[in-house]
Amino acid sequence: MGLINIGGKTIQPGTRDIVTVPVTKDLGVEINIKAHILAGKFDGPTFLFLSMLHGEEWFSMLILRELIRRIDLNELKGNIIAIPVANVSAFNTGTRCVMDNSDEPDANRSFGGEYLWLTNQITRVIEEEFMSKSDYMIDYHVGTWGCTMADIGYGSDYDDPKISEISRGMALAYQFPVIHEMKLNKGTHSKRTSMGRAALHYGIPAIVPEIGGLGFGEDIEKGWIEDNIRGIMGNLKYLGMLEGEPEYCDKYLFVGDYWRVSPKNGGYLEPVIGLDRQFTKVEKGELLARIIDPETFEVLEELRSPGEGVIFYTCRSYMVRPGGWAYGVASLENNSSYWGSI
Ligand SMILES: [Zn+2]
Repeated sequence: MGLINIGGKTIQPGTRDIVTVPVTKDLGVEINIKAHILAGKFDGPTFLFLSMLHGEEWFSMLILRELIRRIDLNELKGNIIAIPVANVSAFNTGTRCVMDNSDEPDANRSFGGEYLWLTNQITRVIEEEFMSKSDYMIDYHVGTWGCTMADIGYGSDYDDPKISEISRGMALAYQFPVIHEMKLNKGTHSKRTSMGRAALHYGIPAIVPEIGGLGFGEDIEKGWIEDNIRGIMGNLKYLGMLEGEPEYCDKYLFVGDYWRVSPKNGGYLEPVIGLDRQFTKVEKGELLARIIDPETFEVLEELRSPGEGVIFYTCRSYMVRPGGWAYGVASLENNSSYWGSI
């Protein structure tokens, strides 16, 4: 609420600025975080947008660029903090993790850390300089080159049920038809992620939109940017930062249990099912893709759906590593995942 001060700089209502907050000095390079601060003309909450805690997920930088272009400060109530490159160290090497010899190389598993590893220092600055001054948060995690994610994640089991409830409201107001209810102690979502830390330590409702990826062509990728802009505007309306009401989807796929269908072997992934089948049903055993040996051209393995489900995240042909991103299938078994309206 009120005037926003970041990095010792006060941004006046109705103006915008880019603030650089230093983190540390690595070998020969300065590590810092650049944040766009958009101070609305009217008083209201502060909304933090993080992108690229994982250094190779650069599609989300395009979302924030478009957001910054489109926001009219004369209509905005409150402030937006948008950080296109949260983890400049991993971005520099084009990798998910920071390439040091630490035992905490993944920034989105390093929040609340006690050491001085690069990820600990980066996330500490994000917490102390940005999270502590924010009321809501979006942290983007999108597909890397060759795969596309397709869901909105929110935490449903925080100590304070109100935070879970607002987070769910934000997920629905993102106006994207796949909602992924995440639990702190299940899967990859934990107290050490941005979302867990924001909710548990700072009391900030948060979501993780995962829409889009790279390598699918500009028309498709521009469509994903529009999906995300619609979602952000829906959130700003839901949270009272813009006039109007979000438009909700007629139907959502509520993802409960799901299968990550990933290759055991590295190789050339040749899809049988691709983007055109996204959000459609697959049967148990249905062939999704083949993994081709890049040297002998033999079929190394077939990727098949482990059960009856709905494809949500998917991929194009590309060279995968063992366990790499390929397909997400929401399980329809025992109604664990289901289509419903709100
Ligand atoms: Zn990520």
